[in-house]
Amino acid sequence: MSMSRKLIVVLGGGESGVGSAILAQKKGFRVFLSDNGLLKEEHRESLRRYNIDFEEGGHTEVRVLEADEIVKSPGIPDTVPVMLEVLNKGVHVISEIEFAGRYTDAKMICITGSNGKTTTASLIYHILKSAGLNVGLGGNIGRSFARQVAEEHFDYYVLELSSFQLEGVYDFKADIAVLLNITPDHLDRYDQNMQLYVDAKMRIIRNQKVEDAFIYWIDDPVVTKEMEKLQPASTRYPFGEKKRDHTTAYTENGKLVIHSKEHIFNMELELLALEGMHNVYNSLASGIVAKLMDISDEQLRTSLSDFKGVPHRLEKVATVRGVQYVNDSKATNVNSCWYALQSMRTKTVLILGGTDKGNDYSEIEELVLSKARALIFLGKDNSRLHAFFDGKVEVISDAGSMNEAVEAAYELAERGDTVLLSPCCASFDLFKNYEDRGDQFRECVRKL
Ligand code: ADP
Repeated sequence: MSMSRKLIVVLGGGESGVGSAILAQKKGFRVFLSDNGLLKEEHRESLRRYNIDFEEGGHTEVRVLEADEIVKSPGIPDTVPVMLEVLNKGVHVISEIEFAGRYTDAKMICITGSNGKTTTASLIYHILKSAGLNVGLGGNIGRSFARQVAEEHFDYYVLELSSFQLEGVYDFKADIAVLLNITPDHLDRYDQNMQLYVDAKMRIIRNQKVEDAFIYWIDDPVVTKEMEKLQPASTRYPFGEKKRDHTTAYTENGKLVIHSKEHIFNMELELLALEGMHNVYNSLASGIVAKLMDISDEQLRTSLSDFKGVPHRLEKVATVRGVQYVNDSKATNVNSCWYALQSMRTKTVLILGGTDKGNDYSEIEELVLSKARALIFLGKDNSRLHAFFDGKVEVISDAGSMNEAVEAAYELAERGDTVLLSPCCASFDLFKNYEDRGDQFRECVRKL
């Protein structure tokens, strides 16, 4: 009878939670979704359409604690009151990825890293889709994985996985795992303990066997140290800028080179659609995936050169009076700003600032000193930026809105320069999210 059916409680009613609830409902569980905040109307509608019981604006703890299993959305930390209760009672908590992974036999291609996940996942998806494979794209991007498992029948999934999503995986396994890099990020959610964050990222290779592939950046000291420690069974496919022993993919004489079983693929770096060294890495990793999936050289070459890129990542917005405006609003940490600056070929007016997560700006100091004509601090509280850059950079200007920032940039930039929005910081002080920040930048530039 219905009372004996397992109860799945879904915590969080965003894209991930709603997808999980729909899948649970379709699989015949009793389902209850609970969110501390308010749901988007589209999500309410989806839940109603599937007849799913839900609450918003607070958690009814007794109902949550009745769960046989909890699917927790990645945005909810273990430290909120409801989670403390859940953990105290010992209810099993998993992520959407673990839950949905139980209900599909599709081959899983999973991408994680501190930076480059969305770009690389999108590029791999583009390559596979262009080659005619029946493939879905999900995880941290677009429609939730769980919802696609509930509503579609894909043979392959390309999943972008954050550390928060990886925390709740146990039996899930990536057939092909890609780990781009590990640099400090989100340490506020990990008690400022870098190792906890690293451990979460390394779960990308959990359960892998010798027939599974692990693609990683060989020059990342954190990752290579973990590999020595963990000695995973996975077959390794490292990539790096320079050729070394056993490197599957690298660059050489202006070309990208990828070794596969039968032969060696190569392609002029100049033909790559995505610019900047970081994107060479992303292209190398994607190329290894393509070769493991037997995508032809022809198709791989075409896809690596006609990929359109993802908005808010080094996105060229417009050229106004000889000045190029670039939207890199997604650069929410110092490391991604470093790559953005590094790819600049001209003097740059850099707009940065926002919600500072404890940034160490010394990482970009050298590039700022050599490339920045001026800095514009765009945040409610710019004191940490001033503390670091004052006295080092001659021209610094403060802005309290995107409009002010773009106008200041327009004044300061000279013909031939680039104005780069690459904030190093989260956006929540002045904007809804990084997309809103990038959209406003685009708008303001277009009004110049
Ligand atoms: P994520 O999804 O991991 O946040 P994105 O693909 O959205 O990553 O890229 C975010 C920013 O990170 C980009 O604007 C770029 O500046 C930087 N970036 C992209 N790829 C890499 C990489 N492989 N290594 C370092 N930084 C990168």
